[in-house]
Amino acid sequence: MPAPPTDSFHRKIDYLRVSITDRCNLRCSYCMPASGFAKLDHTEILRYEEIVRLVRIAVSMGISKVRITGGEPLVRKDVLSLCRSISRVPGLRSLSLTTNGVLLSDFALGLLDAGIGRINVSLDTLKPERFAKITGKDLFSRVWAGIMAAEEAGISPVKLNAVIMCGVNDDEIEDLARLTFRFPFHVRFIEFMPFRFEFDYESVFIPASEIMERLRRVAPLESLIAGQSNGPALHYRFQGAPGQIGIISPVSDHFCPSCNRLRLTSDGKLRTCLFSSDEIDLRGPMRQGASNEEIAAAMLAAINKKPEKHQLSSPVFRKCISRPMFSIGG
Ligand code: SAM
Repeated sequence: MPAPPTDSFHRKIDYLRVSITDRCNLRCSYCMPASGFAKLDHTEILRYEEIVRLVRIAVSMGISKVRITGGEPLVRKDVLSLCRSISRVPGLRSLSLTTNGVLLSDFALGLLDAGIGRINVSLDTLKPERFAKITGKDLFSRVWAGIMAAEEAGISPVKLNAVIMCGVNDDEIEDLARLTFRFPFHVRFIEFMPFRFEFDYESVFIPASEIMERLRRVAPLESLIAGQSNGPALHYRFQGAPGQIGIISPVSDHFCPSCNRLRLTSDGKLRTCLFSSDEIDLRGPMRQGASNEEIAAAMLAAINKKPEKHQLSSPVFRKCISRPMFSIGG
């Protein structure tokens, strides 16, 4: 395996998140515009063979971890065949998937069989009515059944991601965390990021420090050393709990110095920073006959321009986000 490429700030880039669709079967108020959005035309979305080709090229350059995301990846037709093809790319060490869990009951065993070792499920609330309010769909029990199906299928760890928003679900921080006493889940609390401008961001945002303070009141927390592939989360465990707690603080803490990520959007744009609107088009050159070497060179050029850090705290930044999370791929 080649060593992972490094960017101009000496960061090793070994992780690619691949968004395979801009469609989603939920309408989370903080993620999708209430006014709806223009869906990509099918011809704009990368075909499976194009995605697999780009993953192969990335892996040949030293990328070793891939996460499939969206939109909602499980709504794309024949997603298991894509997972299987990607999992067979020689040199790939880890293949994972992020889902809202709505279809997970049907897919859990198939995903495991298709090479998905780890799953992240977005779950912002344990209250069915609130779930319906946040997501626009009364599907809490289906998501919960999906989480259980993933656990029973032996997908490990199952990570639950909760975006914490003041006045929306912050009163559930403790209950979400207490799940780790009952299940071996990794419950991860994520700071709300300013993707949607119609939100009064300042009044909804809760910093990770406040989340931590609340968690410490639940039970004694011990800090865990992050494993190599654990990304930007800080890891904790309540004493005696089988599960873990993760804290992801993209807004209040820069994890940019250790950022190892690239993102491929469903329409074939490569992004080197979630919070920068810079992206390079890989679909166009690929469809015009570019060779693998030319595409690899374009990827390397993008990696070389990966920004040193995001500007999340800067007011200027808020004006420059061109795509919401469902469109980039969370
Ligand atoms: N459909 C899949 C899902 O629900 O997990 C994958 C795509 S979704 C865009 C990925 C993640 O982005 C979800 O966990 C969602 O909560 C998160 N997300 C969306 N908008 C966000 C925001 N403004 N701040 C923080 N996280 C956000």
